[in-house]
Amino acid sequence: HAKEEGKNNFQFYSSEISSQTLERLTLESNLRRALERQEFSLAYQAKVDLKSGRITGVEALLRWHNAELGAVSPATFIPVAEETGLIVHIGRWVMKTACLQNVAWQKQGLPPINMAVNLSVRQFADEHLLADVTAILAETGMNPALLELEITEGMIVHNVDRAIKLLTAIKQLGVRLAIDDFGTGYSSLGQLKNFPIDTLKVDRSFIRDLATDSEDKAITSAIIAMGKTLSLTVVAEGVETAEQQTFLREQACDEMQGYYFSKPVAPDEFAALLGKEKAT
Ligand code: C2E
Ligand code: MG
Ligand code: MG
Ligand code: MG
Repeated sequence: HAKEEGKNNFQFYSSEISSQTLERLTLESNLRRALERQEFSLAYQAKVDLKSGRITGVEALLRWHNAELGAVSPATFIPVAEETGLIVHIGRWVMKTACLQNVAWQKQGLPPINMAVNLSVRQFADEHLLADVTAILAETGMNPALLELEITEGMIVHNVDRAIKLLTAIKQLGVRLAIDDFGTGYSSLGQLKNFPIDTLKVDRSFIRDLATDSEDKAITSAIIAMGKTLSLTVVAEGVETAEQQTFLREQACDEMQGYYFSKPVAPDEFAALLGKEKAT
């Protein structure tokens, strides 16, 4: 009897696993063809100066639309792209496309704008990163001073000596560096002083409940204050309400990014936002 049950359990378990495996394989095989099928696009989200309310920069965010799977969230496909190594190729496409877009906006007469691009763990570990960035800047004619690469704490605490060397070399190209999702990793603000970074992005998880959570308020204020001590530009991520904006202004946070000002939008929509601002 027990044996029977065990067998049934096993069958249930193994069919569950195989449906998960199938889903993953479907995602992976579609992801492998996504670049050649031109299924990727970039959405652009503004960063805004908290004092003046003006747009200071924009972050390029990857979007994937597949015929079979529909729109797939980066939270779902980026980890698969990381595991398979596909992200290195995809990441190069992202950087090049974002730079070409930036150059195109300036040719249209829009004001120069800082363009932030996310780097993945695998890209950061790839020995060709510096050569890739150098080549993309040359191919696109992008002004290096307008490019900002976003990395996360996890990428730099892993191998500190290599990270400092690589980041210093990237800085020497004239490119800016930001720490994304700050506060969620294992680095400390004390460690940050050893890295040649320009910008600190306070993770959305601290911003979300700012109105009600006194601990989040304390953590956010501390990150802003210490970021300033290190002469970094501090950006709050995921700002959705006027209350959050007010608190961040009071704490003299430099910039905000979030749905309160704008969601990530298509290139034309972002150009319209930027054009409207130029007119005022
Ligand atoms: P991230 O770099 O921290 O980007 C911010 C994420 O927060 C974006 O999600 C953005 O749409 C979302 N967001 C912005 N403002 C708000 C807000 O007010 N409320 C809420 N609820 N969300 C907000 P998205 O585009 O889904 O990207 C998620 C993550 O995927 C990114 O987090 C980044 O880690 C990764 N990612 C996106 N594009 C790329 C890429 O081109 N390369 C790599 N390596 N990673 C990427
Ligand atoms: Mg980012
Ligand atoms: Mg972030
Ligand atoms: Mg994030």
